[in-house]
Amino acid sequence: MPKTFSLMIHGGAGALDNIKDDRIAVRYLESLRVILEHGREILSRGAGAVEAVETCASQLEDDPLFNAGCGSVLTEHGHVEMDAGIMDGRDLAAGAVAAVSNIANPVQLARLIMDGSEHLMLIGEGALRFAEHCGMKRTPDHYFLTPERVAQLDQARLKHRIMLDHDAVEDAGEEQKYGTVGAVARDLEGNLAAATSTGGIVNKRMGRVGDSPIIGAGLYADNETCTVSTTGYGEDFMRTLIAKTISDVILFKGGGARDAVTAGIAYLQRKVTGRGGVIVIDKAGDCASGFTTKKMVHGWIEHGGEAICRF
Ligand code: ASP
Repeated sequence: MPKTFSLMIHGGAGALDNIKDDRIAVRYLESLRVILEHGREILSRGAGAVEAVETCASQLEDDPLFNAGCGSVLTEHGHVEMDAGIMDGRDLAAGAVAAVSNIANPVQLARLIMDGSEHLMLIGEGALRFAEHCGMKRTPDHYFLTPERVAQLDQARLKHRIMLDHDAVEDAGEEQKYGTVGAVARDLEGNLAAATSTGGIVNKRMGRVGDSPIIGAGLYADNETCTVSTTGYGEDFMRTLIAKTISDVILFKGGGARDAVTAGIAYLQRKVTGRGGVIVIDKAGDCASGFTTKKMVHGWIEHGGEAICRF
């Protein structure tokens, strides 16, 4: 059997009503495609899964279309507070940051924490000091404050409510998109890794932390089972530890990514009527995704094949 790699990325789940506009749809799909092809390039020349997910998540953070890095949504005070996590399926090593500002690529800081600190998660000012210690520069506020995000916060404030990224302009209940970005990969050696990064939810309280940096909720990777990244209503995912639950389906019942996603999504729905989606690659490199929202922006390359992107 020739060695192959697999790679999946996502850019949020929900109704994605704004994507009815074809020009916006093309921008999303094009962005995913470029990032997947870059991932192909590095994985096929032997990059490890950790490097691949860090690179793909960083590129998604750099695209203001997505709710992470420079496209992050704003808190109730009009600030950006980001969460991110990364995990290595070889040894369950992980790194995470929560409620950080002025860091262009929080997933890179999570990686530095994984590789260079004795801790798993750092938050707020402590995370910034560690970033400085590692030579990472602070990025000024204006880099993050896009006009779209300021308008989105104004709308949420008018309605006196917390909104999720790409919430429909009209109050639409389930018609929401949960931003966040994520990447999962299986490299040529069969190693798995996961990364998830987010600005969280619009008009969130200062200090609110979602699922994205929580190991077992927003991401999980174990070479023995699979790698998972999630997007959706973080509180639902933390209560169900959905990423670890999906991994446990394979650990305790066997089977692959498809069965595990079906079981995990059913559990999420049954227990908390959870809203969002997941991308999963199992140890054999098979890819699967599932979501309880109408759509999820995602793309994949399975066993080195063609890049497929869809909503
Ligand atoms: N899961 C993220 C959070 O709750 C939001 C999202 O996926 O858009 O912070």
